[in-house]
Amino acid sequence: MTDLEPVAPAQPVMPGWEYAPAPESKDIVRLQDRYGLFIGGEFVEPKSGRWFPTIDPSNETVLAEVAEAGEEDVDVAVTAARSAYVTAWRDLPGPERAKYLYRIARALQERAREFAVLESMNGGKPIKESRDVDVPLAAAHFFYHAGWADKLEYAFPAMRPTPLGVAGQVIPWNFPLLMAAWKLAPALAAGNTAVLKPAETTPLTALFLGEVIQQAELPPGVVNILTGAGATGASLVGHPDVDKVAFTGSTEVGKQIRRAVAGTNKHLTLELGGKAANIVFEDAPIDQAVEGVVNGIFFNQGHVCCAGSRLLVQEPVFEELLDKLKVRLGTLRVGDPLDKNTDVGAINSRAQLEKIGELVASGVEEGAVIYQPPCDLPERGFWFAPTLFTGVSQSHRIAREEIFGPVLSILTFRTPEEAVEKANNTPYGLSAGIWTEKGSRILWMAERMRAGVVWANTFNRFDPASPFGGYKESGFGREGGRHGLEPYVRLEPVS
Ligand code: NDP
Repeated sequence: MTDLEPVAPAQPVMPGWEYAPAPESKDIVRLQDRYGLFIGGEFVEPKSGRWFPTIDPSNETVLAEVAEAGEEDVDVAVTAARSAYVTAWRDLPGPERAKYLYRIARALQERAREFAVLESMNGGKPIKESRDVDVPLAAAHFFYHAGWADKLEYAFPAMRPTPLGVAGQVIPWNFPLLMAAWKLAPALAAGNTAVLKPAETTPLTALFLGEVIQQAELPPGVVNILTGAGATGASLVGHPDVDKVAFTGSTEVGKQIRRAVAGTNKHLTLELGGKAANIVFEDAPIDQAVEGVVNGIFFNQGHVCCAGSRLLVQEPVFEELLDKLKVRLGTLRVGDPLDKNTDVGAINSRAQLEKIGELVASGVEEGAVIYQPPCDLPERGFWFAPTLFTGVSQSHRIAREEIFGPVLSILTFRTPEEAVEKANNTPYGLSAGIWTEKGSRILWMAERMRAGVVWANTFNRFDPASPFGGYKESGFGREGGRHGLEPYVRLEPVS
């Protein structure tokens, strides 16, 4: 635009758009009635004899029955993993291990649509997220770690890395396939074998990953997948022949696992909860910040450990940001996860919906001011409207506890020092976001944040080469990058 061109008059707020339904077809997913446990390269009946239904949280229909692994099943799986470790995997040259990882990555890409649809059906997340984030990133993790498998000796200068043995890995329901990839890819690249326990509510993509592992012709037992509930996870973590435990989930269960592992020789990494601050300074580009705030808390219905669930706004721009945020919330489309236009899908389970409802009620009772845009929620299934709270004080439960839902608590600050103080005033320390146009301020803030990941003028960016993990009660150990390989190897100085 030249100086002579007239400046366009300010546009009125965009009128509401009517979107025609654009559902992704489910036909690409062929579900069986029942799925056994994936042990020793095969799907087998559980010795426990127990099965449980897994549902679509957007409409509560049963998708399939899956096996519930008991202690005996855990033992069979760990034995299969040990045997594969000793006979087939530990001593396999790195370039050979890499070939298998590349195969898994390519198969995930080939079956990307199927995995995306299934992830949305079983977990409730919008198809555009499973299609554009979960599945491509899961494939990227296998590609990235395939690249490390034959270069481990260069990853740790002057050290000789050797694998640990059998990894017992327990993952949550918010990113089922992606968390499986985060756990399995580095473990296998480093020469370990694995027993993976997906979350009770989202077992299906992990089981389909079992099929991919068959397709990739991994030696039987290198990867074993045990479906079940918390008791299955506890018995895996407690199995005496597991060398390494990797857990992602709640801080509460993380603490239990730490106690269970204490006094053993097991290696442990914990990736736990968060209560991240997304901090907007007065000089920030406000429209971009609004998008970042929305992405930070409403991505995946807020079921994200690093969600920007506390918004800290510098006082001079509070009103402007709040007005724009409210307008933006009104444009979020909540509904059918398989609709390509959906922004906010279903809550993952009834239990999670109840937890969100309870914390939101506590916010109202404690005196914060709630805002929800008008939105029609489907009658069946588990749903929660995008929610904001203003008038939040640091002592409110909604400012302290992980809600793990589409709920944003907004606080204000005056100075950068106050922003740091408030951002760090949490038992967690997983992530943070900073919005400002000053590079020096970004660095000043990032230095002072007790958070494993600090995003600047963006939020929720993930890359397999970038280490991810927490401070304080958000856990310890890193996943991704060279740092994420380290928890899967024993390092000895090269003599
Ligand atoms: P959990 O921490 O209970 O679940 C994570 C995984 O651990 C699941 O596979 C779970 O199995 C398993 N598990 C449960 N108990 C044990 C145990 N004693 N030993 C070993 N494994 C166990 O999370 P929830 O699903 O119960 O969610 C509760 C809250 O945790 C959420 O509201 C949210 O605030 C937080 N959360 C945080 C996550 C994060 O990434 N930071 C992820 C998920 C939840 P099962 O699913 O069968 O119970």
